[in-house]
Amino acid sequence: MIEIPVEKTFYIETFGCQMNAHDSEKVVGTLLAKGYAQVETPEEAGYVFYNTCSIRDKAEQKVFNRLQNFKRIGKGKVFAVIGCVAQQEGEKIFERAPHVSLVAGSASYTKLPEMLVQLEAGNKRVTGLSFEGAEAFDTPFTRRDNPHRAYLTIIEGCDKNCSYCVVPFTRGPERSRTSASVIDEATKLAESGYTEVQLLGQNVNSYRDPSAAGWDFATLLDRVGSVPGIRRVRFTTSHPRDFVKPIIDAIDANPNLCNHVHLPVQSGSSRVLEGMQRLYTREQYMERIGWMKAAKRPIAITTDIIVGFPGETEKDFEDTLDLLDEVQYDSLFAFKYSPRPNTAALQMGDHISEEEKVRRLTILNERQRAIQIRRNSELIGAVEEVHVEGRHKSLGQWIGRTSQNLTLNFTGPEDVDLIGTYLPVRVTRASAYSLVGESGR
Ligand code: SAM
Ligand code: SF4
Repeated sequence: MIEIPVEKTFYIETFGCQMNAHDSEKVVGTLLAKGYAQVETPEEAGYVFYNTCSIRDKAEQKVFNRLQNFKRIGKGKVFAVIGCVAQQEGEKIFERAPHVSLVAGSASYTKLPEMLVQLEAGNKRVTGLSFEGAEAFDTPFTRRDNPHRAYLTIIEGCDKNCSYCVVPFTRGPERSRTSASVIDEATKLAESGYTEVQLLGQNVNSYRDPSAAGWDFATLLDRVGSVPGIRRVRFTTSHPRDFVKPIIDAIDANPNLCNHVHLPVQSGSSRVLEGMQRLYTREQYMERIGWMKAAKRPIAITTDIIVGFPGETEKDFEDTLDLLDEVQYDSLFAFKYSPRPNTAALQMGDHISEEEKVRRLTILNERQRAIQIRRNSELIGAVEEVHVEGRHKSLGQWIGRTSQNLTLNFTGPEDVDLIGTYLPVRVTRASAYSLVGESGR
């Protein structure tokens, strides 16, 4: 076996959303292609990459605390801070954590090979913070963590301006990939054995093919779902303002497109939505829900909610609870509003106390839990197709996922490896967050 010198090894730690997770996969791919080897702990590594998230909480402080921890194992190592906190804090990171040598936001990852050359030359202050000429990050090689479902970026950045959100500052303006490069990657994924892909972007609905073909999102979705070998296509995230009926028509027409839409609403009050600069009203949002409810296949609908946005009254909050009852979501992610640097909401008056935000979050999660228990129980007796993703050895169960994105753990044959296969499973039990079933195979 060839011994890899420590200065050619790297460790990477990732926080945040699926986009960050996938960025790390691309960074890993780029590093491996440049002859570096990945190791499991920061202690073993020559390079320590820290891919950061700044969407909520005291993200910056957490990053500096972690960097202090890294420093203790430090001598001779190169520390790199990448991702949203890197973009947000920029060169200030060098001042507060002088042992860091690279600070780069996601829009600069295309320049990673050049930045590595500079680091290898011993440069102690390398930055990648410009959005100038930013393009989508296409790498010849991506090292994917999940062997069953592959993330596939179609658009990066965000041109919306939600008043609470740092993403437009940390990920820059929207850049769509060409349809040819998306289809090429989907084809290669299928050839390498992937059957399920998840299209990624902060706002996939505003995808616009920059090449002459000029496909919109609904067309791209359908074409990815038509790549031979691909059996399931998911996508996240959708923005209600740009969510159009042809997307539902595409799901209706192509069974390879999963019947699940994640459509973040953020609030059930049109007044709060206006303060959030979400660019739609509750009524317009409900019109989109109506399209989904009228679809030929039952479409699972999930969402994101923020409670305690500045000025959110009890009545606004009740409107959100009422929206949950009206839509009957299959699941949701709920967050307490978190003030973020550079955002317009920071300047708004009437901030809600932490205690009140916690109260609203608890009530909301309880209301949704009851909805999920009821909805999931309705599936008892139904036969759902699952994609088998793993095995709970201790429980003697296989782990499956339905097209609607529900976890369905089931008993079935034990003498064959089912992982990666698709099979019908009868649902026998349901809880708020998952289903249990048995396969007849
Ligand atoms: N682009 C997507 C969208 O428009 O919904 C996802 C953006 S963000 C990565 C995911 C979720 O984080 C948002 O939908 C929102 O609910 C939440 N979020 C963003 N900024 C927040 C903040 N300042 N405080 C609390 N939650 C926030
Ligand atoms: Fe943030 Fe709004 Fe863009 Fe989503 S659409 S990333 S919430 S600014």
